[in-house]
Amino acid sequence: MKKLIIDMDDVICEKNFIEMVNDFLKTNYKEDDACSYYINDLIPENKMNEWIEFFGRNNLYEYGKQSEDAKVVLEKLNKIYDIYIVTAYVFRDDESLSGKVLKDKFEYLYKNFSFLNSNKYIFANNKELIDADIRIDDNINNLKGKAETKLLFTAYHNKKLTNDELRSNNIIRVNNWREIENILM
Ligand SMILES: [Mg+2]
Repeated sequence: MKKLIIDMDDVICEKNFIEMVNDFLKTNYKEDDACSYYINDLIPENKMNEWIEFFGRNNLYEYGKQSEDAKVVLEKLNKIYDIYIVTAYVFRDDESLSGKVLKDKFEYLYKNFSFLNSNKYIFANNKELIDADIRIDDNINNLKGKAETKLLFTAYHNKKLTNDELRSNNIIRVNNWREIENILM
């Protein structure tokens, strides 16, 4: 079986951060309003302590939703690929809350993707260390490691990357899980 490593945030589930930030700020921001990869950059400096406290007592994965068709396509892929979910968990705004993030991630995967082997969740910030045949991620930096196939999942922060740029890095853009299915099945 080929080894397939798949990211979690903005690939398997989406809108978690933006909905949590909106709940905290009582705003109605869209992901495109974020000026960077980090949605939490929308939080004003003077609210940072309050935000960290809010983040610590809420579960990021009770916000947002599962990406459309993620589950049904993953179930099919799971029969023919050796699947690992590889996800970063260090919380930039307060690293001491990273253990809670890891726990919330584990429980989300365990509950919603019970057909995946929980021994194959990998919590890691440097994904390049992990070898794979195929990589799927929304962050182009996480596609740097070796792989014969690299799929960039479209997200608010990567829309501007052109197909030429992607092609020169041997990366194919996918906009949804049905496109992943078409390429990998
Ligand atoms: Mg991601």
